[in-house]
Amino acid sequence: MSPAIAPAAVETAVADAHRDCTGVNGGKNASYIPYLASVDPSLFGVAVVTVDGQVFEAGDSRVEFALESISKVVTMAVALEDLGAEEFHRRIGADPTGLPFNSVMALELNDDMPLTPLVNAGAMSATSAVQADDKEHRWRRILGAQSRFAGRQITLSDAINTSEQTTNTHNRAIAWLLQCGGAMYSDPMEACEIYTRQCSTLVNTVDLAAMGATLAAGGVNPVTGDRVVSAVNVPHMLAEMTMEGLYTRSGDWAYTVGLPGKSGVGGGLVAVAPGKLAIAGFSPPLDSAGNSVRAQAAVGQVAAALKLGLFRVPGLP
Ligand code: GLU
Repeated sequence: MSPAIAPAAVETAVADAHRDCTGVNGGKNASYIPYLASVDPSLFGVAVVTVDGQVFEAGDSRVEFALESISKVVTMAVALEDLGAEEFHRRIGADPTGLPFNSVMALELNDDMPLTPLVNAGAMSATSAVQADDKEHRWRRILGAQSRFAGRQITLSDAINTSEQTTNTHNRAIAWLLQCGGAMYSDPMEACEIYTRQCSTLVNTVDLAAMGATLAAGGVNPVTGDRVVSAVNVPHMLAEMTMEGLYTRSGDWAYTVGLPGKSGVGGGLVAVAPGKLAIAGFSPPLDSAGNSVRAQAAVGQVAAALKLGLFRVPGLP
């Protein structure tokens, strides 16, 4: 870890954020996926993993939940490695849509081409671009990457997957529009199915922090020592997270917290302080954009306590 951050300071920041944000209320569980509506809204975990592999955690940090949209970061890594940064950028883009994560209008306004891998359209395009011999091979590559980012074997939840596969008609429509635009690189329904699976895996808050810490450490999981993504590709991932990681609140997040992040409608959120650590939070109730209310408060509090933020001038408040 950067010598500027003492482990005791991280431990205190994590414990304080958990204690202070437990009372942060507001928001609602996602309900358009039936399974997510049934998760206990009081669950709340906070975790930090540093670039030298230290783990700090508080609350329900080992309770598993659906990875959801945070899977888009992992699949981006796989497709980016396969295509190379230039080709990935050409095909999938790096601009925020300014519209909700499942927006059809965003596609219509851009000739049915995606703008970013971090909302549903670009994410399905990225899933389809992962090189594979067949559907199950593509799935194994994505699940394997999730596991390497987390540093342990990640598994699919049959309950979540069934709930999502039987209700994902809007995403199927998006997949067909992408096919129209020439932005699908496998069968569109196959891409939608694998994308839906990648959202339906189970992680805990420490896993999320380890995933973020892998990016903070330049692509090497700091707990396992496994190189998961090339160092040259990490800045591209952090740029995408900065521009679109918190849906239509990404700009607000940059303004207030100033760290690349990614949230998911399962209630998870991870933010990355490059070269230092990653901070993760989990609590199911979401704001109207799809971001966990309590996790945003807690991750923001830890970042402020440790004076992290990409836009801070070193040495100044
Ligand atoms: N599986 C969800 C969907 O595709 C993920 C959405 C999200 O977390 O943003 O709608």
